[in-house]
Amino acid sequence: MKTAVFSTRSYDKTFLTAANAEAGHELMFLQDRLTAHTASLAAGCEAVCVFVNDNVDAEVLAILAAQGTRLVATRSTGYNQIDAMAAAGLGIEVVRVTGYSPYSVAEFAVGLLLAVNRKIARASVRTRDGNFELDGLMGFDLHGKTVGVIGTGKIGTIFARIMLGFGCTVLGYDQYRNPAFEAMGGRYASTAELVPGCDVLSLHCPLTQETRHIVNSESLARAKRGAILINTSRGGLVDTEAAIAALKTGQLGGLAIDVYEQEASLFFQDLSSTIIEDDVIQRLVSFHNVIVTGHQAFFTQEAIGQIMQTTIESISAFEAGAGLVNRVPVS
Ligand code: NAD
Repeated sequence: MKTAVFSTRSYDKTFLTAANAEAGHELMFLQDRLTAHTASLAAGCEAVCVFVNDNVDAEVLAILAAQGTRLVATRSTGYNQIDAMAAAGLGIEVVRVTGYSPYSVAEFAVGLLLAVNRKIARASVRTRDGNFELDGLMGFDLHGKTVGVIGTGKIGTIFARIMLGFGCTVLGYDQYRNPAFEAMGGRYASTAELVPGCDVLSLHCPLTQETRHIVNSESLARAKRGAILINTSRGGLVDTEAAIAALKTGQLGGLAIDVYEQEASLFFQDLSSTIIEDDVIQRLVSFHNVIVTGHQAFFTQEAIGQIMQTTIESISAFEAGAGLVNRVPVS
């Protein structure tokens, strides 16, 4: 099936081509992000394959539908960039990838926590400059601390298990209770109990209307002073301006984010030779107790291999008229 693959990077091309070896779909790799301006590049493609920062809103979907697209396959778990309702109205199927290594993201969240708490990135920069001083590098033991997990699905539960292994108390908040979370020793709490009680807060829920800015000035004010916030989920979960205000007063003791509210115009590209106009991200990276990575938590060999395999399987299933197991919910 002729498929336009937007936001292609070299690794997408390598892994998707390998996954497509037997299926033999006609893949058209495009570096561009999908927007209303670039949608015409997919003319004649029955399927369009997108990533997290492509813009698949109602306007773009209408262009795609008029050009003959019948399937949108996102190479991600989250699908907040796609207007699933509009797609359904246009007769376009939308599929995602739910079954890829959740360890990739959970392990990265733990890495971010260790790096920001123990100032590992800062220490590495120092030693490269011949500075072996310890002043300013003190962290705290994770053993015995309380970690809050917002969203106890696949990734949140694995993160929780690792934190329990560190000897932490783990509190969880979710719309639905996950028996596996409780069986391993996690305890559910209301946000009223969880937020003030935690030394570390890690976000693992999807971005929805309900969860947008779930971390805001009000919740940050209720947090334990000096708490660390980790976000590997979606940038829109955190009110970034509020986080900056809390960092300035020391109310927030550390912040490590792999996702950022305005990441679409920044991430997955090399802007090191340009002037970055986003003052918020520039302020963030100026804090010594902030770590920003560019949406790389999923980026392991295992996860990428599975993402591409599932994407090709979905395209093949659609072409064969078979059931789509990874169809996104329409709500
Ligand atoms: P999942 O569906 O298994 O788990 C999400 C959990 O969030 C579910 O238990 C769900 O009930 C809960 N939830 C939904 N709405 C909620 C609300 N309003 N309040 C509290 N909890 C709520 O998903 P997952 O595979 O664990 O992925 C979690 C998120 O991680 C994804 O939505 C995606 O945004 C993000 N993610 C990021 C990367 C990355 O590279 N940084 C990669 C993959 C996924």
